[in-house]
Amino acid sequence: MSTVVAIDGPSASGKSTTARLVARHLGFLHLDTGAMYRAVTLACHKQALPADPSPQMSALLDELDIRFERDAAGNQRVLLNGADVSQLIRTPEINRAVSRYSALPVVRERLVRFQRQMAAENDVVCEGRDIGTRVFPEAAYKFFIVADIEIRARRRQQELLAKGYEADLALLETELQRRDAEDSAREHSPLVQADDAIVIDTSGLTIEEQVATVIAHIEAQTKP
Ligand code: C5P
Repeated sequence: MSTVVAIDGPSASGKSTTARLVARHLGFLHLDTGAMYRAVTLACHKQALPADPSPQMSALLDELDIRFERDAAGNQRVLLNGADVSQLIRTPEINRAVSRYSALPVVRERLVRFQRQMAAENDVVCEGRDIGTRVFPEAAYKFFIVADIEIRARRRQQELLAKGYEADLALLETELQRRDAEDSAREHSPLVQADDAIVIDTSGLTIEEQVATVIAHIEAQTKP
């Protein structure tokens, strides 16, 4: 039986960085499920498919091939049907559109199947919105990562700047709040904290502290 560490939380809460570094520490696979929903959104945009179920969307999902690979620097790259889309899935356009595509059951069913398959074959740190509640309700370790909205907007601004996009802080706050609201209010697998998840507020924590906190909880739970 493989081990699952589930990390959920809203956008820009620090869960991706935490998940990546915890996975590295444990030697587990890092499953970034947000990247999968982003890749589907990009694939649909490329074919000009709206966020509505359609035969074309089903065909796209049937042929979908998402892979994670490590580059020479050890960074995880996302491959969509063989092409590296790691940058393309993190543009403002995809940020705005992804919640509409991820709300579709047909998209979720396809990606959840893929996530479970990956975890059947590997120990994983899996991050997303519904990991501890729906994808892996039996996960050995569950975390829910939160942070103040101003801090999350500032982090997202830094992230975008590093990629060459200027972004207004107030607009980013509005955008994050809108995406949280859409992800929390949707009918299927909404963003919600699992009852048995450990909540970590990263507002006042450095990255090192976030990672150390998660690892300390895992080690404390693992001790006989
Ligand atoms: O984590 P990230 O911000 O990259 O996620 C992008 C979007 O993908 C989220 O806003 C949400 O709509 C969707 N998502 C989801 N379920 C997950 C992970 C992400 O619906 N498990």
